[in-house]
Amino acid sequence: MKKIDLAKELIKNNLEIFKCPVCSEPMLLKGSSLICLKRHCFDLANKGYLNLLTHPVHSRYGKQMLTSRKIIAQHGFFQLPIEQVGDIIIKEIKGKKEQTKFRILDAGCGEGSNLASILAYLHSKSPFDFIGIGLDISREGISIASGSYPGNIWVVADLTACPFIDKQFDIIINILSPSNYEEFKRILKDSGLLIKVIPGSGYLQEIRKTFYHQKERQEYCNEKIITLLEKSFNIVSWKRLIYKRELSQDELIPLMEMTPLSWSINKKDMEDIRKKRYPEMKQVTIDLTILAGSKIFKRNPSP
Ligand SMILES: [Zn+2]
Repeated sequence: MKKIDLAKELIKNNLEIFKCPVCSEPMLLKGSSLICLKRHCFDLANKGYLNLLTHPVHSRYGKQMLTSRKIIAQHGFFQLPIEQVGDIIIKEIKGKKEQTKFRILDAGCGEGSNLASILAYLHSKSPFDFIGIGLDISREGISIASGSYPGNIWVVADLTACPFIDKQFDIIINILSPSNYEEFKRILKDSGLLIKVIPGSGYLQEIRKTFYHQKERQEYCNEKIITLLEKSFNIVSWKRLIYKRELSQDELIPLMEMTPLSWSINKKDMEDIRKKRYPEMKQVTIDLTILAGSKIFKRNPSP
């Protein structure tokens, strides 16, 4: 089956999740386009993804950075946290006996590797039906995702204005990506779960220590992110995962290029990395915190 036909089939079976990004009306699938009642029209790309942005957006996440992310993901740098996220999902859905189909949205999915790996893990461990939906503002990222991982719904959109109807998702994952908790709450089912992965203070510390010459840039604190999350979600599980990963000189290049850290590294250092002049950098620390949160409901005022 062609990628565009597979995507059409998936979108047709999940049409009720979409709303028009312009006027918020429900959408219909006509040919290879999503059309709302007011006739705002969005075409499916040949690669099988939807572009639901209402205006072009410049993203700093260029092709090089996205390709590097894919390489690092394929080398298994994040396999451990991927499996832990999968285990949280499996535990969560065990209690939902009447349901066999679950929609998982990766909000800020980049080039799609994380969502694809999590779904592969879930399919290997659980008999249920999982529908993966990846959303990112980077068209470049979604294009790589739909080319590499067909069988999921890939959407270019702004996560601060998600083109989805309220309460459609069982799980929202948000890995090393910005968030919009109001939107996440709106589109998550009342019984749904948000899983957010954030870096800890030791994350890629070898890189920061070697290439950041100002002390304050070498340190990272995630306290503010957690405080903000707690205002919108009731944190039900919290796990810190720290491990060291062996690093070859070939892996150092994509590792540097995949993170925004590389934007502030000077040109000379980056050239040296490409020329493999850092043989002493043999390992790197991965320090991540995996948070899971349920929706907080406002109490009704007492009568
Ligand atoms: Zn519309």
